[in-house]
Amino acid sequence: MTSMYHSTRNADACVSAKRAVLNGLASDGGLYVTDALGETKIDLERVVTNTYRENAAYILGTLLDDYSAEEIESCVKAAYKGTFETDDVAPVVKVGDAFVLELFRGPTSAFKDVALQMLPQLMSRAAQGAGEKIMILAATSGDTGKAALAGFANTPGLGITVFYPHNGTSEIQRLQMVTQAGDNVAVAAVEGNFDDTQSAVKRIFGDEALRERLAAQDTVLSSANSINIGRLAPQVVYYFDAYAQLVRAGEIACGDAVEFCVPTGNFGDVLAGYFAKRMGLPVGKLIVASNCNNVLSDFLTEGVYDRNREFFKTISPSMDILISSNLERLLYYASDGAAGFVAGLMGDLAKTGRYQVPDEVLARIQETFACGWASDEQAEAAMKECHDATGYVLDPHTACAWHVSKMHPHSEGVPRVVLSTASPYKFCHDVCEALGLAAPQDDFACMRELEGASETKAPAALAALENADERFGDVIAVSDMSSYVETKCGELL
Ligand SMILES: *Cc1c(COP(=O)(O)O)cnc(C)c1O
Repeated sequence: MTSMYHSTRNADACVSAKRAVLNGLASDGGLYVTDALGETKIDLERVVTNTYRENAAYILGTLLDDYSAEEIESCVKAAYKGTFETDDVAPVVKVGDAFVLELFRGPTSAFKDVALQMLPQLMSRAAQGAGEKIMILAATSGDTGKAALAGFANTPGLGITVFYPHNGTSEIQRLQMVTQAGDNVAVAAVEGNFDDTQSAVKRIFGDEALRERLAAQDTVLSSANSINIGRLAPQVVYYFDAYAQLVRAGEIACGDAVEFCVPTGNFGDVLAGYFAKRMGLPVGKLIVASNCNNVLSDFLTEGVYDRNREFFKTISPSMDILISSNLERLLYYASDGAAGFVAGLMGDLAKTGRYQVPDEVLARIQETFACGWASDEQAEAAMKECHDATGYVLDPHTACAWHVSKMHPHSEGVPRVVLSTASPYKFCHDVCEALGLAAPQDDFACMRELEGASETKAPAALAALENADERFGDVIAVSDMSSYVETKCGELL
């Protein structure tokens, strides 16, 4: 059977998985979902004996079943063979009385690599069939831009252009981007802040005349953001694979329940855990951990989503989000596929910045999801306590989850896995401060400080930035972004 995808806001118009990957967002603004989710259960005995790449092929093949087995195989090989520190991609390590799933061992030291190494492969296979060339456009305040560049670099038929605000990222983040190798990548600083940059990218996407000129060369613009089903599907894999690792380590028997605690921003990572549960993984609770932008924990407690609140900049910047786009998919499934209901809620959100779900929908969500949040001070204390007690260094995002996990007592005999989303070396300065180490202004000096105080090494790619050649020095005006994109599209092979 082929899983067809349709919008969370309208179940009538269906597309294939490949088309959903190419489109990203449905034309009515909804997110692609399939009503076949969970119809085919994953065989846990098989998962337990599989390698990470075998599990990726198995689970992606189940979720995106109009790709042929050969296509999925080649995607998995390109995404995960030799790109992560080790072949097991995402190792589980025991830290104190919990387990940490290390999702940051990829090329840019953040968990987004797991999905962004795969998405370009899925897109490229889908685009070949459709005879299209694709230019990915991204505005970034730091992390996503680099992970997308690394994923899309040198993928046939695809190009990527990333804009970041001039002087608006950390020095490490800037260096990560401007040193990116590849013939099909372009990076430019923009004279403006992140909002200016992002608004301009949205205008470029909406420019009909540009779209027509590009269509004449069989080129389309697309995005790589986390609402794409091709980013969500690869994240389901590591929940199954983490479970397999626990079984193989003798920590649980096959069939036992496990809980996951997940640092959350756009709700993609933790939603993948919900997909895993629907597909047969014995998941107890999924614990959603926020920072003080705690719009999600309020929603999961009260059933009211209200983005009309103060926005805080925190030490866990990738979770500084007030609109968690992927939550829309949970609303769809928790309401038994009531697309009209979801469309209504999203209409409320657009109009008033707020919506409320009925008690029975909230109750169903709460059967699976628990929640909590950590202030910067609590995250810092979590980093310090964890390091003092175990020697393990958490990054500030993972520290939010660590704090929230501590606040939620374990169910008796059910192991707790905390998802770790970034290497502490990516946020070295704040980590050094939290651990009470010297925290010099220079990030590379902080890296050496952290290496000295822990038994770890900075990821080679981050350390190498200190002496890497900068390839992209352009600083352009907001008004020149569109012609910059058009020029880069003309260079696509
Ligand atoms: C993106 C990101 C998150 C949040 O993940 P979502 O899927 O948006 O919930 C958490 N931590 C880090 C380091 C990230 O880069």
